[in-house]
Parts: sequence; C-alpha cells; structure tokens
Amino acid sequence: AEQIRIAIAGHGNLGRGLEAAIAKNPDMSLVGIYSRRPPEQIKPQDAATPVYEIAALKDHTDAIDVLILCGGSKEDLPQQGPEYAALYNTVDSFDTHARIPDYFATVDEPAKANNRTALISAGWDPGMFSINRVIGEALLPDGATYTFWGDGLSQGHSDAVRRVPGVAGAVQYTRPVKEAVDQVRSGARPTLTTREKHKRECFVVLEEGADANKVREAIVTMPHYFDEYDTTVNFITAEELARDHHAMVHGGFVIRSGNTSPANTQVIEYALRLGSNPEFTSSVLVAYARAVYRLNKMGQYGAVTVFDVAPGLLSPKSAAELRAELL
Ligand code: NDP
Repeated sequence: AEQIRIAIAGHGNLGRGLEAAIAKNPDMSLVGIYSRRPPEQIKPQDAATPVYEIAALKDHTDAIDVLILCGGSKEDLPQQGPEYAALYNTVDSFDTHARIPDYFATVDEPAKANNRTALISAGWDPGMFSINRVIGEALLPDGATYTFWGDGLSQGHSDAVRRVPGVAGAVQYTRPVKEAVDQVRSGARPTLTTREKHKRECFVVLEEGADANKVREAIVTMPHYFDEYDTTVNFITAEELARDHHAMVHGGFVIRSGNTSPANTQVIEYALRLGSNPEFTSSVLVAYARAVYRLNKMGQYGAVTVFDVAPGLLSPKSAAELRAELL
C-alpha cells in the first residue's frame, strides 16, 4: 500500500512523541529526524531512523511527503513555519492563541507560492478543543462555551516557579474547580471569574536553608502566573519530585450549553484525560499529516487550520469504508 513519508523537525517532547505515534499508523513511515543539534546528540527510539542536521532539509524535498514541525511556539515556529512551508507540506502545533492570525499569514504566503499545504495549530488546544468550540457554537447559537484545563502539568507555570529564589525544583498543576464545573454541566450558564474556574497547586523542593514562607509568598503573589488564582504550595523532597511528578499528565474539557427553547437546555461536552500531553498531541499531528498529504494532492495549497479539514480526511480508511462502518 501507499506509504506517506513523514519527517520530524525538532526532537523535544513532541518529536519523541511523534516517533511513537507514527509507529501506530501502518500507512506512514518515518524517513528522518532533523535537529539543530549535532545528529550524534539525538537518540531516536528506533536506532535505524536516520538523523540529519536541519540544514539538510533544503536538499530532501523529493524524499518527504509531510514535515511535522516540533519546535517551540515562542521562538522556533515563527521562523521555522514560514521557512519550511516554502519547501514542504507541513503540520505544526503553534499554540500562542493571540498570534495565530499573524502566524497563519506568514505561513500562507510561502506555502501558496510553492504549491505546498501547511496546517498550523493542530494538537488539543488549539486543535481538538477548537473544533469542539466551533461545533458547540454552531449547533447551539443561544448558549455559552466553557473551556476547563486539567488536571494537568503546566510547563510554563512550572518554569516560573523554578525561577523563584530558594527553589531547587518544582512542578505546577492546573486543576478545574469542581463547583464551577458542576454549575456549567447543569446548563446554568454561570459567569465565572478566572479564580472561580481554576486553581493552581505547586510541588516545590527548597534549596538548603531557603525560607519556606518567603518562597510560598513569592509564588502566590507572582503577577499574571498566580496572583489571579487560589494557589496551594506543597513542599516535598527531591526524591518525591522525581518519583511522583515526572509524567506530563494533562487534559480538560470543552462544554457548550444552550437553549433550543425556553424549556429545553442542551449540554455538549468533550473531555480529554491525557497520561502524556506530548504523546497525545503528537498523535493528533500525525492524523493531520495524513489529511495534509491528501489536501495537497487535491490541490488545496496555502495555510489551513483544523477548521478547514473534513474529519474523513484524518482517517486511514476510504470515504466508502467510513460510510459503511461509521455512519
Ligand atoms: P520542547 O522544549 O521539548 O522542544 C522544542 C524544541 O527544543 C525541539 O524541537 C528541539 O529542537 C529543542 N530541544 C528539545 N530538547 C532539547 C535539549 N535537550 N537541548 C536543546 N534543545 C532541545 O517542546 P515540546 O516538544 O514539549 O513542545 C513544542 C511546542 O508544542 C510547545 O512550544 C507548544 O507550543 C506546542 N504544544 C502544543 C499543544 C497543542 O495542543 N496545540 C500541546 C503541547 C505542546 P532541535 O531538535 O532542533 O534542537
């Protein structure tokens, strides 16, 4: 059968997750991992997978059907997205929500000019959650949409805690507030503040001699990150941190509730409970790589988002098989 040749640009959490995700999809093969670091520093899960310096991408256009970009949204993708959309069909997980329209434009132009298809901002949020927000709004125009995150480990907030003087190590979990979730699920359409929707819980290892109260105070009052939330700080040992907090769990849910008539409330809910955020995100990217491959063959060039992709294009099955099995 026809194989879709996938390559990975950037070998961090997502890059590693992609190796696992591609292996679960028999219609795809991983033809290379490209990194800015020297190839000998990259350890692929399958030792047979070729590893290249990222500069080699300028010469490999005939060997790759879809290049999945796994760089960080802040520094890497704004540069790599437009650069590689000129050479390859691409998929990325750009997640700086406020910058998505600008990023779309910078990728769209080189992709269109070179007959490439570039799917931006796939993953779960943005990604699967975005699709569910759109469907909820379209089906229940008289309604309200709520997104809750967690229980989940937040990379950005964990980094912020680690920068507090006196902290040797830390993780931060975002947790939805149960009372708020229950109200939303009832269809009551409450107005909720930031503090009412989520709480934050930190697990911190102190440096020797550090003052626990000072550290706690510095964390809970940190502007933007913690001051608008109720935050709990737990002090643990380095052994406990390593033993109990290494999994990158995450998830959340999107709920749309609305009324189709004054008497009748309708509630739609989409929920994710993720044992590994990067492995799940990578699984989404792979399904969208299949869709991008097909869209490109159909002549749809330029940048696209998950809103532009029909669900059947994600499946390895044909349209006829899907009609017979899943309708
Ligand atoms: P990482 O920080 O693990 O990796 C980002 C890049 O950093 C890699 O591509 C790699 O590039 C480089 N890198 C990784 N490890 C090292 C290292 N040890 N030393 C030096 N460089 C390294 O990020 P993630 O993979 O966790 O996430 C990537 C992006 O995905 C995030 O910025 C986030 O925006 C997005 N994301 C989106 C989601 C969604 O739902 N839409 C969900 C989760 C993440 P290179 O190999 O070239 O050095």
